[in-house]
Formats: sequence, C-alpha cells, structure tokens
Amino acid sequence: MSTLLVTGGAGFIGGNFVHRAVATGHHVINLDKLTYAGNLSTLASLRDHAGHRFVQGDIGDAPLVTALLAEHRPDAVINFAAESHVDRSIDGPAAFIQTNVTATLALLEVTRDYWRGLSADQAQAFRFLHVSTDEVYGSLGPEGRFTESTPYAPNSPYSASKAASDHLVRAFHHTYGLPTLTTNCSNNYGPYQFPEKLIPLVIQKALAGEELPVYGDGLNIRDWLFVEDHCDAIATVLGRGTVGETYNVGGDSEQTNLDVVKTICALLDSRVPTSTPRASLIRFVRDRPGHDRRYAIDAGKIQRELGWTPRNDFTSGLALTVDWYLANQAWVTGILDGSYRMERLGQ
Ligand code: NAD
Repeated sequence: MSTLLVTGGAGFIGGNFVHRAVATGHHVINLDKLTYAGNLSTLASLRDHAGHRFVQGDIGDAPLVTALLAEHRPDAVINFAAESHVDRSIDGPAAFIQTNVTATLALLEVTRDYWRGLSADQAQAFRFLHVSTDEVYGSLGPEGRFTESTPYAPNSPYSASKAASDHLVRAFHHTYGLPTLTTNCSNNYGPYQFPEKLIPLVIQKALAGEELPVYGDGLNIRDWLFVEDHCDAIATVLGRGTVGETYNVGGDSEQTNLDVVKTICALLDSRVPTSTPRASLIRFVRDRPGHDRRYAIDAGKIQRELGWTPRNDFTSGLALTVDWYLANQAWVTGILDGSYRMERLGQ
C-alpha cells in the first residue's frame, strides 16, 4: 500500500483512477478545485472510505499543497488536474494557461521541495506522474502514428497549454532531478465523462431524441481508449516506468467521429428501441476552427517495455460505456440540472 496525492480526482479520468487506486489498497489524497468539470457524485461511494480523503483546492495554491505533502507524506503525485475541453479553450484560452501551465508549475515547485526533504530511500522511490494527451503532437495525414519522438506541434490553446506543461515536467527532471514520468494518451471514453464530450453528449442527445451535431464532414479520426485501460496504463507506468521517460498510451482503435456517432445510435437502438433509427438525428454542423484531422498513437513502447495492453477494444468498451450511462442516468441528470454543483457546496 502506498499513499498517493491525486490531483483532479473529481474529474473523468482522475475519478476512475481514484476508484481503482482505493480498490487496490492505496491511500488517496484527492485534491480537486471542483471547476465545472469536477463532480463529487463521481466519488459518492468513497465518501466515508478510510482510504480516500477529498480536499477542495487548487494545484496552484502552494501553501495548501505544501501542507498536504507535509501532512500525508505521499509516495507519488499523479497530476490529472487540468482544463481539458478543446472547445472551451478556443472560447477562453486564459483559464487553460492558468491551470495547465502556471498552476502546474507551482505544483512542480512545491513537489520538488517536498522531494528534496525526503530521506535518500524515499526520494529514490518517489514519482511525479503527469497525465497528458496525444494532442500535443498536432495533426496527422492519412498515414503514420505518433511516437514518443514525434515533435510537438500543438494546434489548439488546450494542446498548447498541455505541451507547455509536458515541457515543464521534462525540465524539472533534467534541471532538478525530480523523478518524473509523463503519459500521452489518446481520446478516452467511459463512465463519469462530463456530457460535453462527444460520446456522452451523443448518448444523452440520442436518448432525448435531439439532433446529434457532428463537426464538418464527420471524417476526423481519433484513436479511442476505454478509460479503465488508461488508468491501468498509468498504474503500470507509475510502478515500472523509467524515470524521466514519456509513454504514449492508445487503444489502436481509430474511428471517424461519424462512425462513433453511428455506433452509439446502433447500440442505443438495440437497447432502447425507437420507431425511427437514431442515426436519422445526425446533423453536420460548422467545423471546429483548427480542427485536427487525425490522431493515431503508436503505443509500442509501453507494450514492449512495460507489458501493458488494453483489455477492451472499441466495440466492447463502447458497449460498456453505453450500458453505464443507461444505468446511471441520475449521475448525468445531476449535471444537466446543475444539482451536482450544489452538492459541492453542501446545500
Ligand atoms: P476533466 O475535465 O474531466 O477533469 C479535470 C479535473 O481537474 C476536474 O475535476 C477539475 O475540477 C480539476 N481541476 C481543474 N483545474 C484545477 C486546478 N487548478 N486545481 C485542482 N483541480 C483542478 O478532465 P479529464 O478528461 O479527466 O482529463 C484528466 C487529464 O487527462 C487532463 O490532464 C487531460 O489533459 C488528460 N487527458 C485527457 C484525455 C481525455 O480524452 N479526456 C485524454 C488524454 C489526456
């Protein structure tokens, strides 16, 4: 058992990771600012669990993080906290620079100072794992895949801010010796994803009989990974990754956005039949500015060196996801009617 400081653990991937970490016997300090994307109902089953402590706060709040590190003496910091939605970064990039760059720098500085105060054995075993995205690599043509040596070429304010944070993490390893690890993962999907992202958005709209917006011609390609496989990869890198290295994580599941939407419609039609097939609700809308055409991950390094492979392919993972949303409509409704925000205020 080890103690982990997890940031952003009330969000989508962080929340899934926290459930996994607590279930596998770790003690988790979960630091989350509870922006619009943070949701305490994701953590409801852990509320009274001795292995989980939730702290509302900002990763950029150096005195708070210093105090948490001093009190709990974690063996690792795992940084999920971020502004994560590309469309929001186009409308308002400043929040992305604030959290993903400035606050991440503050977290790195405070963690470095904590790490420097550890005994030699503890310092050697300590890890700072930074969770990042394949979007830092930019857009691909029809051929090729991103490897760990693909040059960074971020195209959105979101991916530019994540690229900056990746560079800071790298610099903290090379300059100060902080034992860092970075993972760059493809698009995630699965339980607890905020319904502004493509898959949960389409599930909700299709269930409500609303139009299903698809950007441009719908032929943009993403490489999809079921969130529990991503969490498994993060745990693998944390346990066995080489300090200072980055690891690409992906599901080898390239799909056009249009195919994703059509598959969700077919899954819903088979589970909740309607008179008209839900694919008839698809509407093509004006493309996102600067929309990257194709992402594809070469996950060969983590597979070869650390023995990680995803357990789910896109078909099984998407079926699990659709079934989870059907069984957890109260979780979604809490977001849609805004009541999840009141929960955090204790109202
Ligand atoms: P999310 O938006 O669902 O969750 C982010 C969480 O961070 C929220 O709970 C939010 O309240 C919290 N947060 C935001 N700013 C904070 C701050 N300053 N201090 C403390 N907490 C703060 O995001 P996600 O989809 O779970 O992504 C998690 C991480 O994984 C991000 O770093 C993202 O870049 C990366 N990532 C996401 C994907 C994906 O497909 N969703 C893919 C690859 C990498």
